Amino acid sequence: MVVSKRYFLETYGCQMNKAESSALEALLRERDWQASADGADADLVIINTCTVRATAENRAWGRIAQYAAAKRQRPFKIMIVGCMAEQYREEMKSRITEIDFVLGTFQKQSFGLVLDQMEAGISLDASDEKPAYVFAKTHHDPGAFRAFVPIMHGCNNFCSYCIVPYVRGREISRSPCDILLEIDRLSEAGVREVTLLGQNVNSYRWSGEEGDLDFPGLLRLIAARERTKKEDVRSIGWIRFLTSHPKDLSNGLIQVLAEEPIFCRHIHLCIQSGSDRILTAMNRKYTKEYFLSLVEKMKAAIPGLSLSTDILVGFPGETEEDVEDTLDLMKKVGFSYSFMYHFNPREGTPAAKLPNRIPEKVKKARLARVIALQKEITQNSLRARLGAEDVILLEEFSRKSGKELLGRTARDEMVVLAADSSRLGSFATVRLTGLSGNTFKAEEGGSCDSAPQP
Ligand code: SF4
Repeated sequence: MVVSKRYFLETYGCQMNKAESSALEALLRERDWQASADGADADLVIINTCTVRATAENRAWGRIAQYAAAKRQRPFKIMIVGCMAEQYREEMKSRITEIDFVLGTFQKQSFGLVLDQMEAGISLDASDEKPAYVFAKTHHDPGAFRAFVPIMHGCNNFCSYCIVPYVRGREISRSPCDILLEIDRLSEAGVREVTLLGQNVNSYRWSGEEGDLDFPGLLRLIAARERTKKEDVRSIGWIRFLTSHPKDLSNGLIQVLAEEPIFCRHIHLCIQSGSDRILTAMNRKYTKEYFLSLVEKMKAAIPGLSLSTDILVGFPGETEEDVEDTLDLMKKVGFSYSFMYHFNPREGTPAAKLPNRIPEKVKKARLARVIALQKEITQNSLRARLGAEDVILLEEFSRKSGKELLGRTARDEMVVLAADSSRLGSFATVRLTGLSGNTFKAEEGGSCDSAPQP
């Protein structure tokens, strides 16, 4: 029987994992568990893992080994959840015997039951069955003014390098009623910014008695509902979404973004490579030309739009010419920022079996070139914004000064503003006056305490 109930939760990987961790914490709170500042005095350590990149996976294995060593000194429970738990379910407990529970992506709905059994002193593990994925009701951390709302889960795309379809399964979309209900609750809780989440939000599709709903349709529904809310519950000013696949980004979506100002003028649109040859080998199902024409269409329809991306270099068989194609595409699009990484094979994916691996040294050199170019593009586009007025959401204390807050524009640019803590979670109109690294300095240019309204 667990008497003290303190937990410590570590999360690795994507925003979906962060949202799912918030949902797990809600279940812990319902059962009167208290969050511990670190794992040293926790009765239960939970590690929510990621297997998309080798680095995240290696870090998680390292942390699990550390907790296993600590468990030999004092008793506590170790639970592993998330994509590594799904991928290595069989071998995890035999590899590290100190692990008590392994809950894969599809077993997370057993989390509450496992907690109850643990408290009752019953040491049953979650079933090995793979039930249908169930969306949690809430992913909100109490008091937070930004929140994630998962709208779909899984992926059907099978990009040749990616493990996600194997550990998260096929796409399923969440009921629009449940999405709207969760957003309603967030409005009532004073949340200012919502991010709709999915591995490929553009392929959201719901079929119900009322008919079919695609992603643009869902966005219109959300925007219309937010508009009709009374002043006292209308707190959400901005809605973002993650992640978009270029092949599924429709004209309908571009139109909604152009017409509904509640949606931020920023899209994270993963390109991965600028080489058609490599894009085919990656099974991405678009070409560089298609991507460029899509970007042109979006920029024409949505003034002020900023685009960020993911770039993967060193894919098997990649040549210098392929790298040049990627650099050329980056220059043509002018991504505001990129998540750049080099290829590391993920066991179980088709790309892991491909010949013509690029040597580590060459991969690193190519990645360095891509990073250098992105830095230059980012700096140039930020400098061009100096003097502009914009609205920011004040999110947190600046690390450099207690008298400054860190905010973010709808275009996903970081901004520092002199303001006191009472302004946290409010919108402010500012003038961008300087630049320190990739963060703007700003002066207040008239304040708007209430959220920007659609
Ligand atoms: S779209 Fe491709 S990269 Fe993205 S989650 Fe699906 S398979 Fe992975």
